Amino acid sequence: MNLFAPAVAFVDLETTGTQAARDGITEIGIVRVEADARGGAPRVDEWSTLVDPEAPIPPAIQALTGITDAMVRGAPTFSAIAAEVHARLEGCLFVAHNARFDYGFLKHAFARVSRPFTARVLCTVKLSRRLFPEAPSHGLDAVIDRHGLEVEGRHRALGDARALWLFAQAVYADRPREAVDEAVRRILKIPSLPPQLPADALEAIPEAPGVYLFYGDNPLPLYVGKSLNLRERVAAHFSSDWRCETDLRLSAEIRRIECEPTAGELGALLRESTLVKSRMPAHNRALRRKADAGVMRWEPGREPAFVPAAAVDAPDVGGGYGPFSSRRAMRECLVALARDHALCWNRLGLERRAGPCFARQVRRCAGACEGAESGEAHDARLAAALAAQAIPAWPFAGLALVREASEDGARVDVHVLRDWCWLGSARDDGELQALCEAPPKPAFDPDVTRLLLRTWARTPESFLPATRLR
Ligand SMILES: [Zn+2]
Repeated sequence: MNLFAPAVAFVDLETTGTQAARDGITEIGIVRVEADARGGAPRVDEWSTLVDPEAPIPPAIQALTGITDAMVRGAPTFSAIAAEVHARLEGCLFVAHNARFDYGFLKHAFARVSRPFTARVLCTVKLSRRLFPEAPSHGLDAVIDRHGLEVEGRHRALGDARALWLFAQAVYADRPREAVDEAVRRILKIPSLPPQLPADALEAIPEAPGVYLFYGDNPLPLYVGKSLNLRERVAAHFSSDWRCETDLRLSAEIRRIECEPTAGELGALLRESTLVKSRMPAHNRALRRKADAGVMRWEPGREPAFVPAAAVDAPDVGGGYGPFSSRRAMRECLVALARDHALCWNRLGLERRAGPCFARQVRRCAGACEGAESGEAHDARLAAALAAQAIPAWPFAGLALVREASEDGARVDVHVLRDWCWLGSARDDGELQALCEAPPKPAFDPDVTRLLLRTWARTPESFLPATRLR
């Protein structure tokens, strides 16, 4: 049971109710199973105690569990056994039936005695459901029946914890080991790293924003990506839960991973866009995607027009609409606006038809195409409908700076911007001065513009006019 290594705790609780935040624990049962390093039989350690919930137990629950008020009187309170429970669960995979219930109760109980508790949790209901999808029920009684488990002390904490340990053994006896391991992996969302990578490849990756590069045998990267949490994102490429075709190909070809942390999301995106352009990774679709993107230009009295990214002049970005990921995306946006606001398909350039437009014929156009509405009135409504897509005019006389600091403050990137485009980033005063004195010509990048607009909408105060810093 290598996935369970080095230790597993099969846990069951009895409680005074179902609300982890309100109700108390009356009994805890833990079966701790530790793998033997030399491959021998695992060490099994059973432990159980009644717990004084410091509140009366409802009669119905006394009847179900057999645990009465009289039994828990004189038993230790949770705070008296918290240290022992913590030590027994330490380093273990936490396994329980409806694990959220038991894990939630313990988390709350530990929190009340100011002891943080976290564990990796495996729910045996999920495991049963995954391995025996045809079974009509996955309640503990059904599981016990189905696998012929011989359990003593059902409904008491230790008895139920033992049942889970027996279930785990039965599962490994019934099904091929690989199938069980794979099911556990999926439930725990453990990524299965490609075998040619070192086993600790993930641990070496910081949980910080930045860019990552996957390399194969070739000196050029296979793939460049960015994330707010590098380790999580890289792991996601290899998680068995869901893989796209690109991830499957990457898994086969990858030989090593490189990471470059950045101060924040903006820095990561900017670095990614430079790397993708300069290194042309084989599996990045981003390049092609960017070539499809563009902005929309529109003035009252005219048809909206799509300007592809390559033809966008940076100073013209402000005052446009979008950016859109493709001509088609722009069209879809206009179709939706026409539908929601009874706008005219002819005037939007969605079709060219003499006479009333398609929307008018199905009574969806207010009638600008046949004089039922004036062109001015239509275009005023269109301008209002487009407000959410409007890119504001660049609000500065020249350059603006966005300072981005990492969460621990150890790293600061200053991004130099103009016309919703990125000119470069500086890590110190010297670099910043050089960039501001001789800035390169802005080049439009739809992803960068989109992120800058989002940053501007949320925190306009993070944009500083460069002149104020002089
Ligand atoms: Zn019309």
